[in-house]
Amino acid sequence: MNGSRVLVLNSGSSSVKYQLLDMADGSRPAFGIVERIGEGPVADHAAALKQVADELAAQGLGLDSPELAAVGHRVVHGGTRFTEPALITDEVVEEIEKLIPLAPLHNPANVTGIKVARALRPDLPQVAVFDTAFHSTIPEAAARYAIDVATADRWGVRRYGFHGTSHAYVSRATAALLGKDPAEVNTIVLHLGNGASTSAVRGGVCVETSMGLTPLEGLVMGTRSGDIDPAAIFHLSRVGGMSTEEIDTLLNKRSGLAGLCGDNDMREIGRRMGEGDQAAQLAFDIYIHRLRKYVGAYTAVLGRVDAIAFTAGVGENSAAVREAAMRDLTAFGIEVDGVRNALRSATTRLISTESSRVAVAVVPTDEELEIAGRTFDLVSA
Ligand code: AMP
Repeated sequence: MNGSRVLVLNSGSSSVKYQLLDMADGSRPAFGIVERIGEGPVADHAAALKQVADELAAQGLGLDSPELAAVGHRVVHGGTRFTEPALITDEVVEEIEKLIPLAPLHNPANVTGIKVARALRPDLPQVAVFDTAFHSTIPEAAARYAIDVATADRWGVRRYGFHGTSHAYVSRATAALLGKDPAEVNTIVLHLGNGASTSAVRGGVCVETSMGLTPLEGLVMGTRSGDIDPAAIFHLSRVGGMSTEEIDTLLNKRSGLAGLCGDNDMREIGRRMGEGDQAAQLAFDIYIHRLRKYVGAYTAVLGRVDAIAFTAGVGENSAAVREAAMRDLTAFGIEVDGVRNALRSATTRLISTESSRVAVAVVPTDEELEIAGRTFDLVSA
């Protein structure tokens, strides 16, 4: 292998995000996004990937450039099959395709991205990095739902967890911020973006996470309900006359903050709360209540918590969410410094007081760097 650059591709259902990272000097020579796939000039994923290749070529950074060592693909669902990044082969592509029933919204686009990129550069090593992989260490006691075992196993119904690339990166970066080896630190990571999940990481190893079979379980999210009594679904079907599709759409797209108050953006909710808007206030309160329940639960799971890390769009930017989530937890050894918390900054930083037993941190996530690093490690091994 000659080059030191990795192209990271994140092929979503309607967009392809890309970043070119140079592992030798940490620079990012190119990045961009092709949006609205299927809606106009960009007919499909093949056209989108072609556009990415053209944009890179226009900057002299084309897929044929000798500096390019590998392509790293974000893949959402690795099932129980993939617990580590995988060098892509025909067999690996087939295995990822077999997992489509578990992630019907995500894996098809991921597979298409892989196929098109391989067709463009068949000789270049390509690596799949899975959103579920970091959570594969979760013990059976946390991963299994308490349902009939044979039925669960037949259909793959268990808790896989998502956002793993972010949880892995942020838990390591939190240990680094504390000047410690990840093996010495127990961390609760709160990934609060439009999708939201939390994980409990003991000594660098994930032991619990809030998303489950799909990214619907757990925290209140931008448009997803998070935890709900599964019998609510039967009720909506039998009594409400709703179809499976309608309930799926309700819980994934018309719930969470958006369902509660009409807005899924925490900035807008904050603005409305400032005007005394009751619906926005209630949405915020429900969001915070759920978050605090998980912090309490994961404190018990870990036994000893050294750090709590806030990340992603809301976690990195909303001082109000962090303040409300951590308020009155001195009995847990958690004390946030109001001034540090209110400071706006894009860097990794502590927001806890000097006397707080638990370090509370804001750690900007960097999934592209994590994917590029894992990809580069694999192809240079
Ligand atoms: P992500 O999915 O990580 O990109 O996060 C996106 C979400 O972050 C948006 O929907 C907003 O709710 C939230 N967000 C971004 N910037 C801010 C901000 N300055 N204050 C509060 N929330 C923000």
